[in-house]
Amino acid sequence: MSRRPEAPGAVALGVAVFLSGAALLGIEIVASRVLAPSFGSSLYVWGSLIGVVLSGLAIGYWAGGVLSDRFPTPYLLTGTLTLDALKSMGATLPGETSIGVDLTYATAVYDIPDDASRDWLGLFHFPSARGSGRGALMLPLEGNKWIVTAGARHDEQAPADEAAFLAFAKQLRTPTLHNAIQHAKPHGRILRYGFPESLFRHYERLPDFPRGLLLIGDAICRFNPVHGQGMSVAAMEAAALRRVLAQRATERDPLDGLAPAFFTEAAAIIETPWAMAAIPDFLHPKTRGERPPNFAQTIRFGLALTKLAARDPAVHKLTSEVAHLLKPRSVYLDPELVQRVTAQTNE
Ligand SMILES: Cc1cc2nc3c(=O)[nH]c(=O)nc-3n(C[C@H](O)[C@H](O)[C@H](O)COP(=O)(O)OP(=O)(O)OC[C@H]3O[C@@H](n4cnc5c(N)ncnc54)[C@H](O)[C@@H]3O)c2cc1C
Repeated sequence: MSRRPEAPGAVALGVAVFLSGAALLGIEIVASRVLAPSFGSSLYVWGSLIGVVLSGLAIGYWAGGVLSDRFPTPYLLTGTLTLDALKSMGATLPGETSIGVDLTYATAVYDIPDDASRDWLGLFHFPSARGSGRGALMLPLEGNKWIVTAGARHDEQAPADEAAFLAFAKQLRTPTLHNAIQHAKPHGRILRYGFPESLFRHYERLPDFPRGLLLIGDAICRFNPVHGQGMSVAAMEAAALRRVLAQRATERDPLDGLAPAFFTEAAAIIETPWAMAAIPDFLHPKTRGERPPNFAQTIRFGLALTKLAARDPAVHKLTSEVAHLLKPRSVYLDPELVQRVTAQTNE
């Protein structure tokens, strides 16, 4: 288990708010002195001054909100404020498990050229864990367009402009993506996103939790977005919360113990997607964090299971159901399945 670097704590945030407030008041008083010789210090002058300052604050808060939505770094992510609130209340903080993937990715949209190959509809270029963390995904969009996402990990960076995007595509192990987009017309600007680490905050292990407060979705656990799990998990947690609330509706105090009960359910939901993402993420040697103790064995099992699924439609259906979070990974512990997978490993 690895700890993520400390997020700005309650004290640091408090000091920052205090200093910026003090600086602003200082500027306001200085401005009143600058205005006084020419305009006096009537109610109108002070009213205008305060209006300008408050408008500036409002714009700043709005811009900060937009920025935090657009660049949800760990320090801006939902949940950090709750952690800070818990810290300032002196409450026990949850332990954390993290998987440091250092992912960056860039997304571009292209018009599909008239002479584009029609042999395929979409393209997945998987990174080679031991070689390069570069990967790409291209899918058709409405309006005869392709959406292309190029991702890189650790020391490699996703491209920031059109030329870099093409150069990135050219360095992939196969030329398919580069061939497809080299003469295609790009649409709009390239959007980039950075994701340092998946983070699971173990609220389910806390002995107590403030009454009336609850976290859900990314605030409990955020997943490497390349695996496409976060929205499903958030939705499953919302359904679990509904169940837990319904079970408690007739109790005298339904909120009493609600959070621990919900966190236990949420942790059970998170277990499968977290473990599924951990395996491909930890295959990259530079991924930070503690590999599961049975990592090598899990990989061997996964490889044999994939081979078996290619031959047996029922196993294929089962692996798809687990991958789409319809069933938990524990279904792989079925003794008959384990026996078949073991036989496959020995082939
Ligand atoms: C680039 C990217 C790609 C992704 N791709 C996928 C994918 O393909 N498939 C998938 O399943 N998941 C994907 N995810 C993950 C998924 O988006 C999240 O896991 C999911 O949205 C989490 O839901 P949530 O409700 O916890 O948080 P969010 O969807 O982030 O919702 C939190 C909301 O709270 C608001 N908010 C924050 N602070 C405040 C405040 N102080 N006051 C009021 N409102 C506030 C925010 O504006 C936001 O609207 C991706 C994530 C990213 C960043």
